[in-house]
Amino acid sequence: MIKPTRRTRTADMALGTTPEPNKQAHTDSNSLWELSEKDPRWLLKLIDETLERNQPLWDKPRRYFRGSAAGEMCIRALTLDAMGHRVPFEARVMRIFRTGNSIEDVNVEAMKIAGVFVSAQNEVKYSDPPVLGHVDAILKRIGTDETMLCEIKSIKQELFKRLPKEHGVTLAGESALNKGYYKNYLRQWNTYAWSKEIDIEIGFILFEAKNEQQQKIYWLLRDPDMLESMLKLRKNAAPYVLSDPMRVAPIPTGFNPDDQSKGNACGWCDRRYLCKRLSKKGCDYDTARAEDAKVRG
Ligand code: SF4
Repeated sequence: MIKPTRRTRTADMALGTTPEPNKQAHTDSNSLWELSEKDPRWLLKLIDETLERNQPLWDKPRRYFRGSAAGEMCIRALTLDAMGHRVPFEARVMRIFRTGNSIEDVNVEAMKIAGVFVSAQNEVKYSDPPVLGHVDAILKRIGTDETMLCEIKSIKQELFKRLPKEHGVTLAGESALNKGYYKNYLRQWNTYAWSKEIDIEIGFILFEAKNEQQQKIYWLLRDPDMLESMLKLRKNAAPYVLSDPMRVAPIPTGFNPDDQSKGNACGWCDRRYLCKRLSKKGCDYDTARAEDAKVRG
């Protein structure tokens, strides 16, 4: 080992010698040294707090539904989302999203190298009801004109382990993924596959585990019934989003924001704290904002 010769704290630690007292550091209780002695995590906390604080509580209202939220089955949640209501994420969750984006990028790059890549981030647009989204990628089988619609999902190791057996081309509604947490991904893929701009019959969802990067692939055939149920729900929600002023929809039949038991859709909903405070019959945009301000400032 090459021994450090400079009298730094690191050198003292490595050599096992007693550090010379640092007059400035020990006399100034606000010094970097003292601060880091007291709380080694202070810098991480500062970064996390800044990231969390900088997220808006409300975005600009939108007059459409997000394609990536094709799995949402509550029209009240859909209207709050379109109004721009946001629930800030913890910094840890933001880091998870960032990792997810990198995993997607790495896969798309690999598809380019493999010669199957056609395009990425193509726009998906429905006008009635208004839905907007972007696909992950469109690929082409080498040497043919056959295209395939690709969605890439990075998921936690525990969820990856619970994924069903991979399958070949299966009608989306009959896929083993069509249950629990995974069915949201199916609905998103199906919505994109049917859009006028994409119009691709076959494709897949590729899952990658976040810790160990194993992958699983599920081949899908687009499903008209699944599309119909997605569109029907959004057609019911559209008048609230397109009205002036925008309105929060009433609580739909079968939903109960006061029921927090497991398995109940409201039990997972981040908007429950606000939903419970608003009239069951719905309200306008300003009322929703004013009520939210009482809770979140
Ligand atoms: S709490 Fe329930 S009813 Fe309210 S927005 Fe969420 S899912 Fe819909």
